[in-house]
Amino acid sequence: MTMRKTKSKSFARMRAAVLLVSLAASLVLTSCLGNIEAETNQQPTDETTIVETSETAPIVETTAEPTPTPEPDLADLPPSEDAPVVALTFDDGPSLRDTGTLLDLLAAEEVPATFFVIGSQVEIGREELVKRAYDEGHEIGNHTYSHQILTTLDQAQVRQELSDTSDMIENIIGSKPTVMRPPTGAWSDDIAAASEELGMAVVNWNWQSCPEDWNHHDDPQHISDFVIETAQNGHIILLHDTNEATVASMPDMIAGLKERGFRFMTVSQMLEHLGEGHPQAGGVYHTYAQPEN
Ligand SMILES: [Zn+2]
Repeated sequence: MTMRKTKSKSFARMRAAVLLVSLAASLVLTSCLGNIEAETNQQPTDETTIVETSETAPIVETTAEPTPTPEPDLADLPPSEDAPVVALTFDDGPSLRDTGTLLDLLAAEEVPATFFVIGSQVEIGREELVKRAYDEGHEIGNHTYSHQILTTLDQAQVRQELSDTSDMIENIIGSKPTVMRPPTGAWSDDIAAASEELGMAVVNWNWQSCPEDWNHHDDPQHISDFVIETAQNGHIILLHDTNEATVASMPDMIAGLKERGFRFMTVSQMLEHLGEGHPQAGGVYHTYAQPEN
């Protein structure tokens, strides 16, 4: 424990410079905006009919009541056009300024999400935010230790970036993450292999949500409108809980998505509906989609 912390601190100093460089690199992601036709999937609301009973009703007049049909638990239904799902994902935190506010909003709306945390951001006294997110039903994913572009590192460095962060997460929530997201989304077969060794799937995002809240850093209305308009069943939506405007956009975004009939799941909850074994360690996911035979 002590050794790991000491090691982590020295890593923190060594990597401070490259962290800044790689964060800057995130800002120059190639443009991947596109227009898609958003379909409206209105989900009829299930309503429970409340039957009033009277204790004084004569027994002789009691007729056989129909067997009550159990309410389908929407959380158990797989993503479908009739019951669409999106997975909101938040990268680069935890943020002292924004993550707590975001957790408040998600709790109020009962929306589970996935947080891809950076190890070097966690260990500077933000462990409680990770713990809180996990305890409130969110998934914690690995976004590397220092947010370097993994495709520029050798395999040993990739493994170190990932294993340091997985160990840190395990120390906080009691289990290692099963999903990771490479900074800027850049991945290779080697990175998938390193992730597989550490028991993690590679989880990026559908290109439609690339990375709109970075490109419109100070425009909550744009961020919420964009996500509401482009969301489709099975989308893994890329957002950042280090961006104040993103957090400010959440009430409208969640309301708009719910109005379109969307449900919310963590990444793993959604991908598990693909079948046993999903999300698969070493697998690479951009959205929920049936695997090809
Ligand atoms: Zn990132």
